[in-house]
Amino acid sequence: MKKLLFTPGPLSTSKTVKEAMLEDMGSRDHAFVNAVKEIRHELLNLAHVSQAAGYECVIIQGSGTFGVESVISSVIGKKDTLLVIANGAYGERIVKMAGIHQLNHYVLRFDEDQVVNPGSVREFLQVHPDITHIACIHSETTTGLFNPITEIGAVCKKYNKVFIVDAMSSFGGVHMNMKEMNIDFLVSSSNKCIEGVPGFAFALCKKPELEKAKGQARSLSLDLYEQWKGLETNGQFRFTPPTLSIMAFRQAITELEEEGGIEAREKRYQANKKILDEGMADMGFKQYLTPEIQGHIITSFLYPADPNFNFDRFYQKLNDRGFIIYPGKLSKADAFRIGNIGQIFPDDVRNLIVAIREVLEEEKVNVELA
Ligand SMILES: *Cc1c(COP(=O)(O)O)cnc(C)c1O
Repeated sequence: MKKLLFTPGPLSTSKTVKEAMLEDMGSRDHAFVNAVKEIRHELLNLAHVSQAAGYECVIIQGSGTFGVESVISSVIGKKDTLLVIANGAYGERIVKMAGIHQLNHYVLRFDEDQVVNPGSVREFLQVHPDITHIACIHSETTTGLFNPITEIGAVCKKYNKVFIVDAMSSFGGVHMNMKEMNIDFLVSSSNKCIEGVPGFAFALCKKPELEKAKGQARSLSLDLYEQWKGLETNGQFRFTPPTLSIMAFRQAITELEEEGGIEAREKRYQANKKILDEGMADMGFKQYLTPEIQGHIITSFLYPADPNFNFDRFYQKLNDRGFIIYPGKLSKADAFRIGNIGQIFPDDVRNLIVAIREVLEEEKVNVELA
């Protein structure tokens, strides 16, 4: 049975994206080397920057976290200090990286149901002038909120700080102009809104900042600068490349363009979310976040109060009907998540809503029960 993934990644992908992986591919094959070149070029385009404008794209094997860790462990020098802004599990993951790599760092935390307050960031910087770099999550997938990256970027610019953004779950599904947002490093991966298959992460980097990373990596395989040099000098990865995942991604970018670019994809995801929101509200489900800070990537729904509700059975019964949803990751509330991204369309969301209604009926769950 075909299963649809309503998750934050890996996501449902098109048949043609999967078909792009059918031929074995050597790492020196022209088709592969060209695909890498085109992808690096296209990803900068999607962020409204270019090599000519002083930006570079580095591809890193592994999942999204490998890309974030490559940047975090390569660009903050011994004399630098990182400020990690955290309001969810992904921000906390960067805090963990800073600890493991023994970086000089501070953490500025906000509640999970609150977006980052740029004014508080400014005040923190005034008290801690030793800070050189700031890392923040754009779409905090823990809850689905969007942090105000443009406003935080403006603070970074004013105080002359290097700005690192984990835009993993949003890039490709949200319009982002790296230059206008003052982002120096933007990280995302192959299996989120570009709708490729898992296999690699990518970092879009402001070249002068990337160049400063020379010789300061804390690991061999995640050395961002050396990875870039490898790709630039002979177009090759330093270690076995994710060949087929690259070929799938090349096709995924073509399909993104055919859909009408990021603008059209954003509209589709927003349409998915609207149908989801209305359908779930109709059944009585409550969202974890207030609508003003909720993004259109993934939504957290609170568990119904009815003791008949059992998430594992709910999940399994939806799974049996071909719909994969996602458990929650909140520290303070019981919730599950439903993603709006990937190859899912308004009719798929309508079908999911029908399936959820059926399961609730079968389980005799009264969502309205307070
Ligand atoms: C998916 C995601 C990541 C990366 O997770 P991986 O499991 O390593 O791919 C990082 N940050 C955010 C915000 C994400 O949504």
